[in-house]
Amino acid sequence: MGYNQTNVPHLERRRSMADLTTSVQFIKGIGPQKAKALEKLGILTLRDLIGYFPRRYEDRRETRRIAQLQDGESACVAAMIASPPTVSHIRKGMDLVKVRAVDETGVLDVTFFNQTWLKNSLVQGETYYFYGKAEGTARRRQMASPVVEAEGRQERTGRIVPVYPLTAGVSQLVLSRAVRQGLDACADILPDVLPDEVRQSHHLCRTEYAYENIHFPESEEALDLARRRLAFEELFLFTVGLRRLRQRRETVSVVPFQKVDMAPFYDALPFTLTGAQRRCVEEAITDMASGAPMNRLCQGDVGSGKTMVAAACVYFCVKNGRQAALMAPTEILARQHFTGLAPLLEKLGIRCVLLTGSTPAREKKAVTARLSAGEADFAIGTHALISQGVDYQNLGLVVTDEQHRFGVGQRAALAAKGSHPHTLVMSATPIPRTLALILYGDLDVSIIDQLPPGRKPVETFAVSGGYRQRVYAFLRKLVGEGRQIYVVCPMVSENDDLPDERKAVTEYAQTLQREVFPDLRVSFVHGKMKAKEKDAVMTAFAAGEADILVSTTVIEVGVDVPNAAAIVVENAERFGLSQLHQLRGRVGRGSHQSYCILISDNRNEETRARLKVMTKTTDGFRIAEEDLRLRGPGDFFGVRQHGLPGLKIADLGCDTQLLREAQEAADALLERDPDLAGCPATAGRVTELFTQAADTLN
Ligand code: ADP
Ligand code: MG
Repeated sequence: MGYNQTNVPHLERRRSMADLTTSVQFIKGIGPQKAKALEKLGILTLRDLIGYFPRRYEDRRETRRIAQLQDGESACVAAMIASPPTVSHIRKGMDLVKVRAVDETGVLDVTFFNQTWLKNSLVQGETYYFYGKAEGTARRRQMASPVVEAEGRQERTGRIVPVYPLTAGVSQLVLSRAVRQGLDACADILPDVLPDEVRQSHHLCRTEYAYENIHFPESEEALDLARRRLAFEELFLFTVGLRRLRQRRETVSVVPFQKVDMAPFYDALPFTLTGAQRRCVEEAITDMASGAPMNRLCQGDVGSGKTMVAAACVYFCVKNGRQAALMAPTEILARQHFTGLAPLLEKLGIRCVLLTGSTPAREKKAVTARLSAGEADFAIGTHALISQGVDYQNLGLVVTDEQHRFGVGQRAALAAKGSHPHTLVMSATPIPRTLALILYGDLDVSIIDQLPPGRKPVETFAVSGGYRQRVYAFLRKLVGEGRQIYVVCPMVSENDDLPDERKAVTEYAQTLQREVFPDLRVSFVHGKMKAKEKDAVMTAFAAGEADILVSTTVIEVGVDVPNAAAIVVENAERFGLSQLHQLRGRVGRGSHQSYCILISDNRNEETRARLKVMTKTTDGFRIAEEDLRLRGPGDFFGVRQHGLPGLKIADLGCDTQLLREAQEAADALLERDPDLAGCPATAGRVTELFTQAADTLN
């Protein structure tokens, strides 16, 4: 059929009926090039764009007279161009545009660097708005490189202006224009995900108003209303999603596990479990015997002995005639779990297999055959456990170690290898207690709040680079006493690209070996090494074949070398507190007094305060709380860490009252309408937010 007139209105309509998943490049005024820049900020779709909230705002509503300008203060003035702009070439790559502007109170000299086009666009006799830092006094007032806009065409002056988090290649102006386009494109298609009666009974503004004013607030009051509405929405959807997950799980029934005599397991251990470990095991066993699938998070500080809790659960499961699997995030850890657990469990009649990415094809074939035939009871491994062709005969329990390292889909995939297996997620990222309930609202939580006896707290020091020689001398003394050392090396990058970790680690290790410790054995490991190489290095280190191990944060997670008595972290300021705590957890695992030395030349006050926290406490929960306070929940609860939809605008620290309201509203709604049949927009958004997380948490 030809392309005739009558088709055109039809096409037009289709075009304007974009939806929120439309790629930003199709939005009027954006296009492929800007879309590419926006992608760097994680903005792909129209929804991403309007949901990219400002970090803060600048109130540029008030317009000053020139005579009122204070030296050093940022302000907005309206002034007329008094003489044609001049351009002078200062030096290579540096052009200067100068122009004089006036109002009835005074004269302002304005300069711009490398913006020569302004010479022609600033017209003598016209009035412009300037926003910038004023300098000088009545005798001579100036502004360098202000924002300048013609009267009546103001975007970044004369109003409350959003300030977005940016990346190279995207300016505030480009971004706020894109958001403007996005909001316009949304005009008729933005569904209100809050049911009307919820919105009204909680005095919340409409969705269009909220999005408009969170980006371009008309007033402070409008901004407050917008923020309150969006935060409420976030907490409300989050709660509805969690409640529904739990509902769904509670309706599944599985054959309850039978009571098992655990004595042989406990007797086989080289130590007695702590009270906290015992309690966690009992909680898990009760779950597995309940007839509903267990969905439990076991939280315990580094070194609290989570592995043995997992092993007890595995024993219980296998003695019930079912298979169990334990997935670790790295090859090193998987192997370590295997080496640690297999001898113990084999003695108890449990047939263990190891499956990782570097398992040779032939062996992998044999292992998978045993698993699918039920000739192996317990599979330990990495994500290889979920690869295609790995099937289980009757998987009954899935344990994931250090859960925040896994993508949400990976955990789900392992659970999908069985029919509603019990799941136990082990995490060493302590979540402040007050928040665990919200974040893991749909998981049951066990907390190991006790360390095995005899542990000496790791002594921690924060020092500047000037102390490096003394630190080296101290390390030498420790090695002399037979101890081993970790050094987490600095990652220096020339630009903001990813640093080359291979180069950084290799060079640092070589320098250390050649110039500082020629007589000691220095080895190194980094993430770019093949799994086999990494393994070989770690195994050798664990066997005492090296004195010092230089590495990146690949050692962060779970590695257990009891003889290691010190960890040195270079550029410590680059790490979050929780991460430093994890790193520190690599030492102090044996009976020796251990040390953690944080080296940083950063003099920023906040950085120093952060590092100081590390020297003051070894309590993971307190550190997590500090981290939360210092970094804010945005970072702390990033999607990556807990696999749940992130909260972008609600502040869990401050919005507790709002959270309570949102939870009540969610509960009331689900009571009235458990299937959300009457509010499809709510149901749709919840499903969207939880699509990936849903399977995982079930
Ligand atoms: P994490 O919770 O960090 O995973 P691990 O399970 O690796 O901790 O345990 C840390 C160390 O403590 C291991 O060497 C382990 O054998 C030991 N351990 C665990 N439980 C006990 C206990 N009850 N008594 C003594 N040592 C224990
Ligand atoms: Mg562990």
